Amino acid sequence: MPETFKAILVSRDADKKQSVAVTDLTDADLMEGDVTVAVEATTVNYKDGLAITGKAPVVRRWPLVPGIDFAGTVISSSNPDWRQGDKVILNGWGVGETHFGAYAAHARVKGDWLVPLPQGISAHDAMAVGTAGYTAMLSVMALERHGILPDRGPVVVTGAAGGVGSVAVSILSSLGYHVIASTGRNAESPYLINLGAAEVISRDELNQPAKPLAKERWAGGIDSVGSHTLANVLSMTSYGGAVAACGLAGGMDLPSSVAPFILRGVSLLGIDSVMAPKAVRLEAWRRIGSDLDLQKLAGLSRTIGFDGIIDAARDIVEGKIRGRVVVDM
Ligand code: NDP
Repeated sequence: MPETFKAILVSRDADKKQSVAVTDLTDADLMEGDVTVAVEATTVNYKDGLAITGKAPVVRRWPLVPGIDFAGTVISSSNPDWRQGDKVILNGWGVGETHFGAYAAHARVKGDWLVPLPQGISAHDAMAVGTAGYTAMLSVMALERHGILPDRGPVVVTGAAGGVGSVAVSILSSLGYHVIASTGRNAESPYLINLGAAEVISRDELNQPAKPLAKERWAGGIDSVGSHTLANVLSMTSYGGAVAACGLAGGMDLPSSVAPFILRGVSLLGIDSVMAPKAVRLEAWRRIGSDLDLQKLAGLSRTIGFDGIIDAARDIVEGKIRGRVVVDM
């Protein structure tokens, strides 16, 4: 009998009604790929919450094992870049959307999608970072490329108590930025200050319809919220500044004007983690290895087991999760 393992499976009935269940799979059930990985740790990202609850069309193939990222050990490989025993990380590439993902003990993927686990980081640490933290690092790198360095002035992080936000606050403060953290959960102020925020402001200051231009408050920002929040962040960005837009937790729209772009030379930097080229991923994970304080990382994450994934997925879409959730498989 082939070995079976537990997996979460999202299915859809004839009326396109989505459901989620825990099931048993074997390696023969996995999708095509040249590397099979024993998943040691994964995480619950906002996108995983959307996939499991069906709140947005993240899953585009049924049935599907969700889970957009994992860290683990190669069990078998016909890809020349990877051998049995190699420690690897996967983020994105449609895994957990169109290709069976992380919420199973084994995952079979293309070797080209994998990056090596950085030295000194465990599978658990890598998933405390997860796609959210890797996206935060991509956003920091985009600001740096645009010349938004600590001496240019404060930077704002929206959705600060969430996964992307928490890691962004932590990295930016380690790099010496004056970080203004925006949150809807005022009770999380001590948590954000502990991560390195210099100031905490209320989400209410940013979520009403934006003026074309407002008082200049920051040189840049990392926005995981979108909609009015991003519009306000842009209108309050000082001359020549830049904002990295990476999320839509508050909405997918952008009710803004061109005023910040054409009157203040502000730039809007788009961040996509899913299809980011391998060289960019390698650089982002290298920087995570060097620039992220692992002690702070421990403080911004909590650990659950496989059985807690579905509840955590429901909680994250309701904005109830603080920081990062690591799943020890
Ligand atoms: P989380 O749910 O952990 O964090 C989102 C945070 O946004 C919440 O904690 C909350 O922060 C804030 N928020 C939630 N709802 C609202 C609202 N209605 N209005 C204003 N603020 C709100 O999610 P992640 O950090 O994992 O992801 C954040 C966003 O980034 C998501 O939209 C996700 O899809 C996107 N993302 C994009 C990636 C990319 O490749 N571009 C990759 C990874 C994530 P607080 O309580 O502090 O206000």
